[in-house]
Amino acid sequence: MLMWDGLYSRALERAKGALPGTGRILLAYNTNIDAVKYLDPHDLEGRIERAGRDEVLRYSEELPDRIREIPHLLGGILWSIKRGKAAELFVENMHVRQYMREWGWNELRMGGQVGIMANLLGGVYGIPVIAHVPQISELQANLFKDGPIYVPKVEKGILKFVHPKEFSGDEESLTHYIYEFPRGFEVLGIRAPRENRFIGSADDYNPNLYIRPEFRENFEEIAEMVQLAIISGLQALTKENYAGPFEEIERHLEILNERGIPVHLEFAFTPDETVRRKLVDILGKFTSVGLNEVELASVMEVLGEKELAELLLAHDPVDPLAVVEAMRKLAEVTGVRRIHFHTYGYYIALTSYTGEHIRDSLLFAALAAAAKAKLGDVRNLEDVGRALDVPVNEKAVDVEGRLKEEFGLKEGIARVEEGQLSFVPTKIVARPKSTVGIGDTISSSAFVCEFALRG
Ligand code: ADP
Repeated sequence: MLMWDGLYSRALERAKGALPGTGRILLAYNTNIDAVKYLDPHDLEGRIERAGRDEVLRYSEELPDRIREIPHLLGGILWSIKRGKAAELFVENMHVRQYMREWGWNELRMGGQVGIMANLLGGVYGIPVIAHVPQISELQANLFKDGPIYVPKVEKGILKFVHPKEFSGDEESLTHYIYEFPRGFEVLGIRAPRENRFIGSADDYNPNLYIRPEFRENFEEIAEMVQLAIISGLQALTKENYAGPFEEIERHLEILNERGIPVHLEFAFTPDETVRRKLVDILGKFTSVGLNEVELASVMEVLGEKELAELLLAHDPVDPLAVVEAMRKLAEVTGVRRIHFHTYGYYIALTSYTGEHIRDSLLFAALAAAAKAKLGDVRNLEDVGRALDVPVNEKAVDVEGRLKEEFGLKEGIARVEEGQLSFVPTKIVARPKSTVGIGDTISSSAFVCEFALRG
């Protein structure tokens, strides 16, 4: 463990020195508002009675496919409480949207991977970012931190870049209402076996991967201005609506590839199998991809590797040899040059190129994640350093041992046929303040730091 403490400190110093010089980063496409409501049992019960208890209970047995009336919403919430499981449904009806707005929230948070990464990379690390924000309402704009965060704005035919707060677009609020309940929460005799949330999305833009005209019409010019790109938000597409957005995304990728700009795909869980397969098909156009065990397993499934998919979900901590096998398959099939896997306790990267900086960037990402878990909000790079005293995960010792045996790993690095395997045991915060968007923090920090350290 002492060795890792030393490597962690050195990686942080290197990252702090290099990050300010990273260059501009393009972030596309999903940003929204998360309105978090902590449910109150009396309030909820009253609402269920008023909406019609029997009707609501029906939907708590079987989720509707979308929310068209109030019993769908309340039934969906009950469905989650009963099972302690998360669920997310699209809210179609304006009347229900109005009802949710009036019901209110306890907290507004930045939502969507682009929004979260813009606040981290621009607002915390101070690296200039150009963000795609599908709709910029005042509420949405105010969730952006101060700092070098820009959105394109066309004025009198001229493309300009302004902070979202200066955009003054008066556009729609894309609100994801998050109804949270603690373990043991009880309503109408139904008890929550564990804490979780139900989400009702009043958002017509992100689920369809709406791309703003400023981006469609000026993408070449925007691409000229950036040195790196991170793409996310493709996870909500379905076989019905993916074709149009995919065409535009592939055009964007071609433009970025022509200019030699490394592009990372943040692979969130994509329930639609057709879309997941299409994502794998275009993965070779990305330089890099970031995913967790559930996402890697879901990718193995569409590649016909069912057993491997199951193996990835069978052990805690996740079997590292299964992870490496899956990463190798994915690299071979797609040609993607960097795969960054993260799970509770450790990260592994498989890259077609070599260097200590790959491992160091994983260490920096683990510090950023632990700082977020520890502090809730990370204000600056000094705060990232406050995670240095969080202990390194004990369970990762065995994981490291198995990788040493199999690949001759030294200080987290092993040469393999394809290039390099990099491994780091992560720091785990015992009682985290916040884990929202922690996966996005890990992937974007590692990708950006690696290119900053590349020299
Ligand atoms: P999300 O979609 O919520 O961001 P992910 O699975 O993508 O979820 O990311 C969660 C990751 O966060 C885990 O893989 C783990 O590495 C990290 N993580 C979770 N809890 C903690 C914690 N308490 N301390 C440090 N890292 C954590």
